[in-house]
Amino acid sequence: MRAFAYERPTSLADALALLATGGDGALGSDARPLAGGTDLIIRIRDGSIRPASVVDVKGIAEFSRDIRVEDGWLRIGARTTMTDLVRDDRVQRDYAALAEAASYVGSVQIRNRATLAGNICNASPAADTVPALLVYGAQVVTVGQGGRRTIPLDDVFVRSGVTTLLPGELLEAVELPLPGGPRGSVHARRTRRRGHDLASVTLACSIGLDGVTRIAYGSVGPRPLLVVDETGVLSDRATSPAAKAARLDELFVAAAPSPTSMRASPEYRLAMLRVLGLRAVAASHERLRA
Ligand SMILES: Cc1cc2nc3c(=O)[nH]c(=O)nc-3n(C[C@H](O)[C@H](O)[C@H](O)COP(=O)(O)OP(=O)(O)OC[C@H]3O[C@@H](n4cnc5c(N)ncnc54)[C@H](O)[C@@H]3O)c2cc1C
Repeated sequence: MRAFAYERPTSLADALALLATGGDGALGSDARPLAGGTDLIIRIRDGSIRPASVVDVKGIAEFSRDIRVEDGWLRIGARTTMTDLVRDDRVQRDYAALAEAASYVGSVQIRNRATLAGNICNASPAADTVPALLVYGAQVVTVGQGGRRTIPLDDVFVRSGVTTLLPGELLEAVELPLPGGPRGSVHARRTRRRGHDLASVTLACSIGLDGVTRIAYGSVGPRPLLVVDETGVLSDRATSPAAKAARLDELFVAAAPSPTSMRASPEYRLAMLRVLGLRAVAASHERLRA
């Protein structure tokens, strides 16, 4: 592992300056933000990235670990961990798929360190919290030397490991619209070994009383994808399983799994996507009725 400088700024201004210069005054040198480190440290160790410096965001006074309502949004601060999400009453009640997704991430030890912001910024197609955030219509607030930006989450992902965040830009908060009415939502996933391995397929579904079904899925292509069914076929309890499966196949047409990896074949991922999709629609119906 190549040696790197470790910086722990206490103000946002200092953090942004360090990210712009890499801490050594040389503009453009490679500095990386660090939150829980559960992705970053592994990538530094295996040599896939070799930053000159690492800027720990946990000491930034302006960055919160709160989950609070602000201006009609549920605002989740950049330092919020998976454990914080799992334990939050409002998240459990109003964003059940997000609470479930967070509870699936790694092990207790990983969840105590891993942040929601890190799960997004790492931009793994298999990130478990991202499908739930997409079905709830999340947006992210970023801050950089050019100021703050609010970006719909769906516009953040490009491909594995690549986002639309600018160099030196930090994710400050994730925002979720407050629920507009009753809805049933759920997270579902397939993995080889829970706690150790990423998902072969990860998916979230939400059905509202307005008849709209939102499904997002990951690990079946270079980035997580959101699909929306406004036909009512999926939200109508009376629709036959065969008709629902046919509608899901139409919605999943853009799923493009990469070639066989140690985790799964493309055929397996596509088959599991259909299975999880049908199960998630059924479970969302149950929750909407409850
Ligand atoms: C054993 C193990 C099991 C795991 N299991 C799962 C799993 O089941 N599901 C799953 O989804 N993931 C899993 N992971 C991956 C990882 O735990 C998550 O992706 C986690 O949420 C990353 O958060 P972090 O705070 O540790 O991020 P870090 O590792 O600190 O950072 C991740 C990336 O985000 C960037 N970053 C962090 N914070 C910010 C910020 N505020 N602004 C801009 N960029 C930022 C970093 O520079 C880095 O590129 C697992 C990891 C391990 C080691």
